[in-house]
Amino acid sequence: KTVIIRPYTAHPATILSKKPESRTSTAIVWFRRDLRLTDNPALQAALARHERIVPVFVADFAAEASWAPGAASRWWLHHSLVRLENAFAGRGNALLIRRGASLAELRRLIAETGAEAVYWNRLYEPALIERDRVVKAALREDGIIAQSFRAALWHEPWNLKTAAGEPYRVFTPFWRKLVGELPPLQIHAAPARIKGLSGKVAGLSPDALELLPKLDWDTGFYARWRPGEDGALHALDNFVRGGLGHYTDGRNLPARRDTTGLSPHLHFGEISPQQIRAAIVRRAGGIARLEADGEQVLRELGWREFAHHLLFHFPQTPEHPLQTKFADMPWRPAKSRAADLAAWQRGRTGIPIVDAGMRELWTTGWMHNRVRMIVASFLTKNLLIPWQDGARWFWDTLLDADLANNTLGWQWTAGCGADAAPYFRIFNPLLQAEKFDADGAYLRQWLPELATLPADALRAPWLARPEVLNRGGIRLGTDYPAPIVDLAASRKRALAAYATIKSA
Ligand code: FAD
Repeated sequence: KTVIIRPYTAHPATILSKKPESRTSTAIVWFRRDLRLTDNPALQAALARHERIVPVFVADFAAEASWAPGAASRWWLHHSLVRLENAFAGRGNALLIRRGASLAELRRLIAETGAEAVYWNRLYEPALIERDRVVKAALREDGIIAQSFRAALWHEPWNLKTAAGEPYRVFTPFWRKLVGELPPLQIHAAPARIKGLSGKVAGLSPDALELLPKLDWDTGFYARWRPGEDGALHALDNFVRGGLGHYTDGRNLPARRDTTGLSPHLHFGEISPQQIRAAIVRRAGGIARLEADGEQVLRELGWREFAHHLLFHFPQTPEHPLQTKFADMPWRPAKSRAADLAAWQRGRTGIPIVDAGMRELWTTGWMHNRVRMIVASFLTKNLLIPWQDGARWFWDTLLDADLANNTLGWQWTAGCGADAAPYFRIFNPLLQAEKFDADGAYLRQWLPELATLPADALRAPWLARPEVLNRGGIRLGTDYPAPIVDLAASRKRALAAYATIKSA
Protein backbone atom coordinates (compact mmCIF):
# COMPACT_ATOMS: atom_id res chain seq x y z
CA LYS A 1 0.00 0.00 0.00
CA THR A 2 1.41 3.39 -0.91
CA VAL A 3 0.69 6.23 1.42
CA ILE A 4 1.10 9.73 0.11
CA ILE A 5 2.22 12.26 2.64
CA ARG A 6 2.17 15.95 1.86
CA PRO A 7 5.57 17.45 1.02
CA TYR A 8 7.38 18.26 4.21
CA THR A 9 6.13 21.41 5.87
CA ALA A 10 5.62 20.39 9.48
CA HIS A 11 8.21 20.43 12.21
CA PRO A 12 10.43 17.35 11.71
CA ALA A 13 9.53 15.88 15.10
CA THR A 14 5.84 15.67 14.20
CA ILE A 15 6.58 13.56 11.12
CA LEU A 16 7.84 10.74 13.34
CA SER A 17 4.42 9.97 14.66
CA LYS A 18 2.92 8.80 11.35
CA LYS A 19 1.19 5.46 11.61
CA PRO A 20 3.10 2.24 10.92
CA GLU A 21 2.84 0.88 7.37
CA SER A 22 1.83 -2.59 6.26
CA ARG A 23 4.41 -5.19 7.22
CA THR A 24 4.42 -6.79 3.80
CA SER A 25 6.26 -3.97 2.10
CA THR A 26 9.85 -3.01 1.35
CA ALA A 27 11.74 -0.06 2.81
CA ILE A 28 15.07 1.45 1.91
CA VAL A 29 17.28 2.48 4.81
CA TRP A 30 19.61 5.15 3.51
CA PHE A 31 22.85 4.90 5.52
CA ARG A 32 25.00 8.00 5.61
CA ARG A 33 27.01 8.73 8.75
CA ASP A 34 25.10 6.35 11.01
CA LEU A 35 27.12 3.28 10.12
CA ARG A 36 25.79 1.06 12.91
CA LEU A 37 23.00 -1.41 13.60
CA THR A 38 22.59 -0.70 17.34
CA ASP A 39 20.51 2.28 18.46
CA ASN A 40 19.70 3.23 14.89
CA PRO A 41 16.21 4.82 14.76
CA ALA A 42 15.86 4.79 10.95
CA LEU A 43 16.64 1.08 10.79
CA GLN A 44 14.43 0.45 13.81
CA ALA A 45 11.47 2.24 12.20
CA ALA A 46 11.93 0.38 8.92
CA LEU A 47 12.04 -2.98 10.71
CA ALA A 48 8.96 -2.18 12.75
CA ARG A 49 6.88 -1.12 9.76
CA HIS A 50 8.10 -3.15 6.79
CA GLU A 51 8.92 -6.72 6.00
CA ARG A 52 11.96 -6.30 3.76
CA ILE A 53 14.85 -3.91 4.22
CA VAL A 54 17.13 -2.62 1.47
CA PRO A 55 20.11 -0.90 3.11
CA VAL A 56 22.03 1.47 0.86
CA PHE A 57 25.00 3.81 1.14
CA VAL A 58 25.27 6.42 -1.64
CA ALA A 59 28.67 8.02 -2.18
CA ASP A 60 27.50 11.53 -3.04
CA PHE A 61 30.48 13.68 -2.14
CA ALA A 62 29.56 16.40 -4.64
CA ALA A 63 26.64 17.31 -2.35
CA GLU A 64 29.11 18.25 0.37
CA ALA A 65 30.71 20.82 -1.94
CA SER A 66 33.95 22.16 -0.46
CA TRP A 67 33.51 20.03 2.69
CA ALA A 68 33.54 16.64 0.99
CA PRO A 69 35.43 14.10 3.16
CA GLY A 70 39.18 14.68 3.34
CA ALA A 71 41.80 11.99 2.71
CA ALA A 72 41.83 10.63 6.28
CA SER A 73 38.02 10.52 6.50
CA ARG A 74 37.86 8.63 3.24
CA TRP A 75 40.21 5.99 4.68
CA TRP A 76 37.90 5.57 7.67
CA LEU A 77 34.80 5.47 5.50
CA HIS A 78 36.24 2.68 3.36
CA HIS A 79 36.87 0.45 6.36
CA SER A 80 33.61 1.33 8.04
CA LEU A 81 31.69 0.36 4.90
CA VAL A 82 33.50 -2.98 4.77
CA ARG A 83 32.45 -3.61 8.38
CA LEU A 84 28.85 -2.61 7.75
CA GLU A 85 28.75 -4.88 4.69
CA ASN A 86 29.91 -7.76 6.90
CA ALA A 87 27.36 -6.91 9.57
CA PHE A 88 24.51 -7.07 7.04
CA ALA A 89 25.87 -10.23 5.44
CA GLY A 90 25.87 -11.89 8.86
CA ARG A 91 22.18 -11.03 9.23
CA GLY A 92 21.02 -12.41 5.92
CA ASN A 93 21.00 -9.10 4.06
CA ALA A 94 23.36 -7.13 1.82
CA LEU A 95 24.45 -3.50 2.06
CA LEU A 96 24.21 -1.86 -1.34
CA ILE A 97 26.80 0.73 -2.24
CA ARG A 98 26.03 3.20 -4.99
CA ARG A 99 27.71 6.32 -6.31
CA GLY A 100 26.06 9.46 -7.66
CA ALA A 101 23.51 12.12 -6.76
CA SER A 102 21.49 10.86 -3.78
CA LEU A 103 18.02 11.59 -5.14
CA ALA A 104 18.70 10.02 -8.54
CA GLU A 105 20.22 6.92 -6.93
CA LEU A 106 17.37 6.54 -4.45
CA ARG A 107 14.80 6.88 -7.21
CA ARG A 108 16.64 4.27 -9.28
CA LEU A 109 16.72 1.93 -6.31
CA ILE A 110 13.02 2.46 -5.62
CA ALA A 111 12.29 1.52 -9.23
CA GLU A 112 14.50 -1.58 -8.96
CA THR A 113 13.14 -2.83 -5.64
CA GLY A 114 9.56 -1.60 -5.49
CA ALA A 115 10.32 0.03 -2.13
CA GLU A 116 7.56 2.15 -0.67
CA ALA A 117 9.53 4.03 1.91
CA VAL A 118 12.93 5.56 2.53
CA TYR A 119 14.20 6.17 6.06
CA TRP A 120 17.37 7.91 7.20
CA ASN A 121 18.99 9.60 10.18
CA ARG A 122 19.63 13.33 10.09
CA LEU A 123 22.88 15.17 9.49
CA TYR A 124 23.48 18.81 10.35
CA GLU A 125 25.99 20.23 7.86
CA PRO A 126 24.34 23.12 5.99
CA ALA A 127 24.82 21.62 2.51
CA LEU A 128 23.45 18.26 3.64
CA ILE A 129 20.42 19.76 5.36
CA GLU A 130 19.57 21.38 2.06
CA ARG A 131 20.22 18.21 0.04
CA ASP A 132 18.08 16.14 2.39
CA ARG A 133 15.27 18.69 2.32
CA VAL A 134 15.14 18.45 -1.46
CA VAL A 135 15.32 14.63 -1.38
CA LYS A 136 12.51 14.39 1.16
CA ALA A 137 10.21 16.71 -0.73
CA ALA A 138 10.90 15.02 -4.08
CA LEU A 139 10.33 11.48 -2.76
CA ARG A 140 7.06 12.53 -1.16
CA GLU A 141 6.02 14.10 -4.45
CA ASP A 142 6.71 10.67 -5.96
CA GLY A 143 4.32 9.11 -3.43
CA ILE A 144 7.08 7.52 -1.35
CA ILE A 145 7.16 7.63 2.43
CA ALA A 146 10.24 9.61 3.34
CA GLN A 147 11.13 10.07 7.00
CA SER A 148 14.17 11.19 8.88
CA PHE A 149 15.17 10.59 12.49
CA ARG A 150 17.42 11.98 15.20
CA ALA A 151 20.29 9.57 15.81
CA ALA A 152 23.49 11.59 16.14
CA LEU A 153 22.54 14.06 18.87
CA TRP A 154 20.69 14.10 22.15
CA HIS A 155 18.61 17.07 21.03
CA GLU A 156 17.73 18.70 17.76
CA PRO A 157 19.53 22.05 17.50
CA TRP A 158 16.26 23.84 16.71
CA ASN A 159 14.68 22.61 19.96
CA LEU A 160 17.06 24.28 22.39
CA LYS A 161 16.67 28.04 22.75
CA THR A 162 17.48 30.66 25.35
CA ALA A 163 14.64 32.22 27.36
CA ALA A 164 14.65 35.01 24.76
CA GLY A 165 14.09 32.44 21.99
CA GLU A 166 17.62 32.81 20.60
CA PRO A 167 20.19 30.11 19.86
CA TYR A 168 22.72 29.66 22.63
CA ARG A 169 26.14 31.26 22.16
CA VAL A 170 27.58 30.36 25.58
CA PHE A 171 28.29 26.77 26.56
CA THR A 172 27.39 26.68 30.27
CA PRO A 173 23.73 27.73 30.00
CA PHE A 174 23.40 25.54 26.89
CA TRP A 175 24.71 22.56 28.84
CA ARG A 176 22.52 23.31 31.85
CA LYS A 177 19.47 23.28 29.61
CA LEU A 178 20.54 20.21 27.67
CA VAL A 179 21.48 18.13 30.69
CA GLY A 180 18.05 18.75 32.16
CA GLU A 181 16.41 17.38 29.01
CA LEU A 182 18.45 14.33 28.07
CA PRO A 183 16.32 11.64 26.43
CA PRO A 184 15.47 8.46 28.37
CA LEU A 185 18.22 5.87 28.49
CA GLN A 186 16.86 3.34 26.07
CA ILE A 187 19.11 1.60 23.59
CA HIS A 188 17.74 -0.57 20.77
CA ALA A 189 19.91 -3.65 20.34
CA ALA A 190 21.20 -4.56 16.88
CA PRO A 191 18.66 -6.87 15.18
CA ALA A 192 19.73 -10.51 14.90
CA ARG A 193 18.29 -10.89 11.37
CA ILE A 194 17.32 -8.31 8.80
CA LYS A 195 15.20 -9.71 6.03
CA GLY A 196 16.08 -8.45 2.56
CA LEU A 197 14.89 -8.97 -0.99
CA SER A 198 15.02 -12.43 -2.47
CA GLY A 199 16.54 -11.25 -5.78
CA LYS A 200 19.90 -9.57 -6.18
CA VAL A 201 20.28 -5.82 -6.73
CA ALA A 202 23.50 -4.51 -8.20
CA GLY A 203 25.86 -2.44 -6.09
CA LEU A 204 29.51 -1.49 -5.89
CA SER A 205 32.20 -2.81 -3.60
CA PRO A 206 33.86 -0.37 -1.16
CA ASP A 207 37.04 -0.75 -3.26
CA ALA A 208 35.23 0.65 -6.29
CA LEU A 209 34.78 3.96 -4.46
CA GLU A 210 38.59 4.35 -4.40
CA LEU A 211 38.63 5.88 -0.96
CA LEU A 212 42.04 4.66 0.17
CA PRO A 213 45.05 6.96 -0.28
CA LYS A 214 47.44 6.37 -3.16
CA LEU A 215 50.30 7.53 -0.92
CA ASP A 216 51.71 5.08 1.61
CA TRP A 217 50.61 7.34 4.46
CA ASP A 218 48.07 5.26 6.32
CA THR A 219 50.27 2.54 7.86
CA GLY A 220 50.01 4.12 11.31
CA PHE A 221 46.21 4.24 11.06
CA TYR A 222 45.97 0.45 10.96
CA ALA A 223 48.03 0.12 14.11
CA ARG A 224 45.92 2.58 16.09
CA TRP A 225 42.34 2.21 14.85
CA ARG A 226 39.61 -0.32 14.28
CA PRO A 227 36.89 1.42 12.25
CA GLY A 228 33.33 0.08 12.36
CA GLU A 229 30.69 -0.59 14.96
CA ASP A 230 32.58 -3.47 16.61
CA GLY A 231 35.66 -1.27 16.93
CA ALA A 232 33.56 1.49 18.50
CA LEU A 233 32.03 -0.88 21.07
CA HIS A 234 35.46 -2.29 21.83
CA ALA A 235 36.90 1.23 22.35
CA LEU A 236 33.97 2.15 24.59
CA ASP A 237 34.44 -0.99 26.67
CA ASN A 238 38.17 -0.31 27.05
CA PHE A 239 37.48 3.24 28.13
CA VAL A 240 34.83 2.31 30.67
CA ARG A 241 37.22 -0.22 32.26
CA GLY A 242 40.26 2.09 32.10
CA GLY A 243 40.41 5.82 31.30
CA LEU A 244 36.98 6.63 32.74
CA GLY A 245 38.26 6.12 36.29
CA HIS A 246 40.69 9.04 35.97
CA TYR A 247 39.27 10.96 33.01
CA THR A 248 39.09 14.39 34.70
CA ASP A 249 42.86 14.60 35.18
CA GLY A 250 44.00 12.13 32.56
CA ARG A 251 42.15 13.82 29.69
CA ASN A 252 44.71 16.64 29.68
CA LEU A 253 47.79 14.44 29.48
CA PRO A 254 48.65 13.68 25.85
CA ALA A 255 51.08 10.87 26.66
CA ARG A 256 48.24 8.85 28.19
CA ARG A 257 45.29 7.08 26.61
CA ASP A 258 42.72 8.25 29.13
CA THR A 259 40.19 9.71 26.69
CA THR A 260 37.62 7.61 24.85
CA GLY A 261 39.27 7.71 21.41
CA LEU A 262 35.69 7.60 20.09
CA SER A 263 35.71 10.79 17.98
CA PRO A 264 36.00 9.13 14.53
CA HIS A 265 33.47 6.47 15.57
CA LEU A 266 31.08 9.24 16.67
CA HIS A 267 31.62 11.20 13.48
CA PHE A 268 30.71 8.21 11.33
CA GLY A 269 27.85 7.28 13.61
CA GLU A 270 29.28 3.88 14.49
CA ILE A 271 28.17 4.65 18.02
CA SER A 272 25.67 7.14 19.43
CA PRO A 273 26.27 9.58 22.30
CA GLN A 274 23.39 7.81 24.04
CA GLN A 275 25.25 4.48 23.96
CA ILE A 276 28.26 6.16 25.59
CA ARG A 277 26.04 7.72 28.22
CA ALA A 278 24.34 4.39 28.91
CA ALA A 279 27.69 2.64 29.36
CA ILE A 280 28.93 5.31 31.77
CA VAL A 281 25.72 5.26 33.80
CA ARG A 282 25.79 1.46 33.90
CA ARG A 283 29.37 1.49 35.15
CA ALA A 284 28.45 3.99 37.87
CA GLY A 285 25.51 1.85 38.97
CA GLY A 286 22.84 4.42 38.06
CA ILE A 287 22.41 8.08 37.08
CA ALA A 288 22.39 9.26 40.70
CA ARG A 289 25.78 7.68 41.30
CA LEU A 290 27.60 9.29 38.37
CA GLU A 291 30.94 10.58 39.59
CA ALA A 292 32.96 13.59 38.43
CA ASP A 293 34.78 11.56 35.75
CA GLY A 294 31.57 10.29 34.18
CA GLU A 295 30.01 13.73 34.29
CA GLN A 296 33.06 15.23 32.63
CA VAL A 297 32.76 12.81 29.69
CA LEU A 298 29.08 13.75 29.28
CA ARG A 299 30.09 17.41 29.37
CA GLU A 300 32.58 16.83 26.52
CA LEU A 301 29.78 15.19 24.56
CA GLY A 302 27.85 18.34 25.46
CA TRP A 303 30.52 20.38 23.64
CA ARG A 304 29.87 18.18 20.62
CA GLU A 305 26.16 18.99 20.86
CA PHE A 306 27.00 22.67 21.30
CA ALA A 307 29.17 22.56 18.16
CA HIS A 308 26.26 21.10 16.15
CA HIS A 309 23.89 23.66 17.65
CA LEU A 310 26.19 26.47 16.51
CA LEU A 311 26.72 25.03 13.04
CA PHE A 312 22.97 24.67 12.57
CA HIS A 313 22.17 28.22 13.68
CA PHE A 314 25.24 29.88 12.15
CA PRO A 315 25.85 27.91 8.94
CA GLN A 316 28.38 30.43 7.65
CA THR A 317 30.89 29.65 10.41
CA PRO A 318 33.04 26.97 8.70
CA GLU A 319 34.34 29.80 6.53
CA HIS A 320 33.58 32.97 8.48
CA PRO A 321 34.15 34.04 12.09
CA LEU A 322 31.04 34.03 14.26
CA GLN A 323 32.13 37.36 15.72
CA THR A 324 32.04 39.35 12.51
CA LYS A 325 34.58 41.96 13.60
CA PHE A 326 37.23 39.25 13.25
CA ALA A 327 36.73 39.26 9.48
CA ASP A 328 39.10 42.25 9.47
CA MET A 329 41.86 40.49 11.37
CA PRO A 330 45.23 41.59 9.90
CA TRP A 331 46.66 38.12 9.21
CA ARG A 332 50.04 37.90 7.55
CA PRO A 333 49.82 38.06 3.73
CA ALA A 334 49.46 34.67 2.01
CA LYS A 335 52.88 34.78 0.33
CA SER A 336 54.86 35.55 3.45
CA ARG A 337 53.16 32.88 5.54
CA ALA A 338 53.30 29.92 3.10
CA ALA A 339 56.64 28.51 4.31
CA ASP A 340 55.58 28.73 7.96
CA LEU A 341 52.27 27.01 7.20
CA ALA A 342 54.20 24.18 5.51
CA ALA A 343 56.58 23.90 8.52
CA TRP A 344 53.59 23.69 10.85
CA GLN A 345 51.90 21.04 8.69
CA ARG A 346 55.04 18.91 8.60
CA GLY A 347 55.87 19.22 12.29
CA ARG A 348 59.04 21.22 11.65
CA THR A 349 58.45 24.51 13.48
CA GLY A 350 61.25 23.93 15.98
CA ILE A 351 58.76 24.13 18.89
CA PRO A 352 58.69 20.53 20.15
CA ILE A 353 55.16 20.33 21.58
CA VAL A 354 53.76 21.76 18.32
CA ASP A 355 55.84 19.43 16.16
CA ALA A 356 54.98 16.40 18.28
CA GLY A 357 51.25 17.10 17.85
CA MET A 358 51.51 17.64 14.11
CA ARG A 359 53.46 14.41 13.72
CA GLU A 360 50.99 12.51 15.85
CA LEU A 361 48.29 13.80 13.51
CA TRP A 362 50.18 12.81 10.36
CA THR A 363 51.02 9.35 11.66
CA THR A 364 47.83 8.33 13.44
CA GLY A 365 45.14 10.59 11.92
CA TRP A 366 44.32 11.93 15.40
CA MET A 367 45.73 14.42 17.87
CA HIS A 368 45.11 14.81 21.58
CA ASN A 369 42.70 17.66 22.43
CA ARG A 370 45.19 19.53 24.63
CA VAL A 371 47.72 19.51 21.80
CA ARG A 372 45.09 20.52 19.22
CA MET A 373 44.58 23.68 21.27
CA ILE A 374 48.33 24.30 21.48
CA VAL A 375 49.03 23.84 17.76
CA ALA A 376 45.97 25.91 16.82
CA SER A 377 46.98 28.74 19.14
CA PHE A 378 50.53 28.64 17.75
CA LEU A 379 49.28 28.81 14.14
CA THR A 380 46.74 31.58 14.61
CA LYS A 381 48.62 33.67 17.18
CA ASN A 382 52.38 33.10 17.04
CA LEU A 383 52.37 32.59 13.27
CA LEU A 384 49.41 34.92 12.60
CA ILE A 385 48.03 32.53 9.98
CA PRO A 386 44.22 32.42 9.50
CA TRP A 387 42.41 29.73 11.47
CA GLN A 388 40.74 28.65 8.22
CA ASP A 389 44.12 27.41 6.90
CA GLY A 390 44.56 25.27 10.00
CA ALA A 391 40.98 24.00 9.83
CA ARG A 392 41.55 22.90 6.21
CA TRP A 393 44.67 20.94 7.11
CA PHE A 394 42.82 19.25 9.97
CA TRP A 395 39.95 18.55 7.62
CA ASP A 396 42.22 16.56 5.32
CA THR A 397 44.31 14.77 7.93
CA LEU A 398 42.00 14.06 10.90
CA LEU A 399 40.15 10.76 10.90
CA ASP A 400 37.55 12.49 13.10
CA ALA A 401 37.31 15.59 10.88
CA ASP A 402 33.88 16.95 11.68
CA LEU A 403 32.56 20.22 10.35
CA ALA A 404 30.82 21.20 13.58
CA ASN A 405 33.57 20.21 16.03
CA ASN A 406 36.44 21.40 13.85
CA THR A 407 34.82 24.80 13.28
CA LEU A 408 34.14 25.22 16.97
CA GLY A 409 37.66 24.13 17.94
CA TRP A 410 39.37 26.53 15.54
CA GLN A 411 37.12 29.51 16.20
CA TRP A 412 37.38 28.91 19.94
CA THR A 413 41.18 28.89 19.84
CA ALA A 414 41.41 31.86 17.50
CA GLY A 415 39.10 33.77 19.85
CA CYS A 416 36.49 34.60 17.22
CA GLY A 417 33.79 31.99 17.96
CA ALA A 418 31.07 31.39 20.53
CA ASP A 419 32.20 31.31 24.14
CA ALA A 420 35.73 31.50 22.77
CA ALA A 421 39.03 31.81 24.59
CA PRO A 422 39.65 35.56 24.93
CA TYR A 423 41.84 36.80 22.08
CA PHE A 424 44.61 37.73 24.51
CA ARG A 425 44.91 34.15 25.80
CA ILE A 426 47.93 32.92 23.87
CA PHE A 427 49.06 29.48 24.90
CA ASN A 428 52.72 29.40 25.87
CA PRO A 429 53.86 26.11 24.31
CA LEU A 430 56.70 25.72 26.78
CA LEU A 431 54.50 26.12 29.85
CA GLN A 432 51.88 23.86 28.31
CA ALA A 433 54.47 21.14 27.71
CA GLU A 434 55.84 21.56 31.23
CA LYS A 435 52.40 21.29 32.77
CA PHE A 436 50.85 18.52 30.68
CA ASP A 437 53.90 16.50 29.62
CA ALA A 438 56.17 17.05 32.61
CA ASP A 439 58.44 14.06 32.02
CA GLY A 440 58.50 14.60 28.25
CA ALA A 441 57.03 11.17 27.44
CA TYR A 442 54.80 12.58 24.68
CA LEU A 443 57.64 14.60 23.13
CA ARG A 444 59.95 11.58 23.18
CA GLN A 445 57.34 9.45 21.47
CA TRP A 446 56.86 11.81 18.54
CA LEU A 447 60.30 13.44 18.29
CA PRO A 448 62.68 10.47 18.50
CA GLU A 449 65.57 12.64 17.30
CA LEU A 450 65.35 14.56 20.61
CA ALA A 451 64.56 11.59 22.85
CA THR A 452 67.89 11.50 24.66
CA LEU A 453 67.60 15.09 25.93
CA PRO A 454 66.56 15.81 29.52
CA ALA A 455 62.97 17.09 29.87
CA ASP A 456 63.72 20.85 30.02
CA ALA A 457 66.04 20.75 26.99
CA LEU A 458 63.52 18.57 25.21
CA ARG A 459 60.80 21.20 25.60
CA ALA A 460 63.02 24.06 24.36
CA PRO A 461 66.19 22.77 22.69
CA TRP A 462 67.17 26.27 21.54
CA LEU A 463 67.46 27.33 25.20
CA ALA A 464 69.59 24.33 26.19
CA ARG A 465 73.30 24.71 26.95
CA PRO A 466 75.49 23.60 24.00
CA GLU A 467 77.03 20.76 26.04
CA VAL A 468 73.55 19.36 26.77
CA LEU A 469 72.77 19.31 23.06
CA ASN A 470 76.22 17.85 22.30
CA ARG A 471 75.71 15.09 24.82
CA GLY A 472 72.39 14.26 23.16
CA GLY A 473 74.10 14.36 19.75
CA ILE A 474 71.77 17.17 18.55
CA ARG A 475 72.88 19.87 16.11
CA LEU A 476 70.11 22.45 16.11
CA GLY A 477 69.18 23.43 12.56
CA THR A 478 70.44 20.08 11.24
CA ASP A 479 68.99 17.26 13.35
CA TYR A 480 66.01 19.31 14.49
CA PRO A 481 64.90 22.79 13.30
CA ALA A 482 65.64 26.01 15.15
CA PRO A 483 62.34 27.77 16.06
CA ILE A 484 60.72 29.47 13.04
CA VAL A 485 59.50 32.33 15.29
CA ASP A 486 60.56 33.93 18.50
CA LEU A 487 57.80 33.05 20.95
CA ALA A 488 57.89 36.32 22.92
CA ALA A 489 58.11 38.62 19.88
CA SER A 490 55.38 36.75 17.99
CA ARG A 491 53.16 36.91 21.06
CA LYS A 492 53.50 40.69 21.09
CA ARG A 493 52.80 40.86 17.35
CA ALA A 494 49.62 38.81 17.84
CA LEU A 495 48.41 41.02 20.67
CA ALA A 496 48.98 44.09 18.51
CA ALA A 497 47.05 42.52 15.62
CA TYR A 498 44.17 41.52 17.90
CA ALA A 499 44.14 45.01 19.44
CA THR A 500 43.19 46.46 16.04
CA ILE A 501 40.10 44.25 16.08
CA LYS A 502 39.23 45.04 19.65
CA SER A 503 39.26 48.76 18.98
CA ALA A 504 37.42 48.39 15.63
P1 FAD B 1 37.06 12.48 24.58
O1 FAD B 1 37.78 13.36 25.54
O2 FAD B 1 36.98 11.06 24.91
O3 FAD B 1 35.62 13.12 24.40
C1 FAD B 1 34.48 12.32 24.04
C2 FAD B 1 33.81 12.93 22.82
O4 FAD B 1 33.33 14.22 23.12
C3 FAD B 1 34.75 13.11 21.62
O5 FAD B 1 34.89 11.93 20.88
C4 FAD B 1 34.06 14.24 20.86
O6 FAD B 1 33.02 13.74 20.06
C5 FAD B 1 33.45 15.07 21.97
N1 FAD B 1 34.34 16.18 22.29
C6 FAD B 1 35.35 16.21 23.17
N2 FAD B 1 35.91 17.43 23.21
C7 FAD B 1 35.25 18.19 22.32
C8 FAD B 1 35.35 19.54 21.91
N3 FAD B 1 36.26 20.38 22.42
N4 FAD B 1 34.49 20.00 20.97
C9 FAD B 1 33.55 19.18 20.44
N5 FAD B 1 33.41 17.90 20.80
C10 FAD B 1 34.24 17.40 21.72
N6 FAD B 1 36.71 16.95 17.42
C11 FAD B 1 36.20 16.20 16.42
O7 FAD B 1 35.48 15.24 16.69
N7 FAD B 1 36.43 16.53 15.10
C12 FAD B 1 37.22 17.58 14.75
O8 FAD B 1 37.38 17.85 13.55
C13 FAD B 1 37.81 18.35 15.79
N8 FAD B 1 38.63 19.39 15.49
C14 FAD B 1 39.18 20.13 16.52
C15 FAD B 1 40.00 21.22 16.20
C16 FAD B 1 40.58 21.98 17.21
C17 FAD B 1 41.47 23.14 16.85
C18 FAD B 1 40.33 21.65 18.55
C19 FAD B 1 40.95 22.46 19.66
C20 FAD B 1 39.50 20.60 18.89
C21 FAD B 1 38.91 19.82 17.87
N9 FAD B 1 38.07 18.72 18.18
C22 FAD B 1 37.51 18.00 17.15
C23 FAD B 1 37.63 18.44 19.57
C24 FAD B 1 38.48 17.42 20.37
O9 FAD B 1 39.84 17.71 20.25
C25 FAD B 1 38.25 15.98 19.92
O10 FAD B 1 36.86 15.70 19.86
C26 FAD B 1 38.87 14.99 20.91
O11 FAD B 1 40.24 15.22 21.06
C27 FAD B 1 38.63 13.58 20.41
O12 FAD B 1 39.25 12.63 21.23
P2 FAD B 1 38.38 11.65 22.14
O13 FAD B 1 37.33 11.02 21.33
O14 FAD B 1 39.34 10.75 22.83
O15 FAD B 1 37.75 12.70 23.16
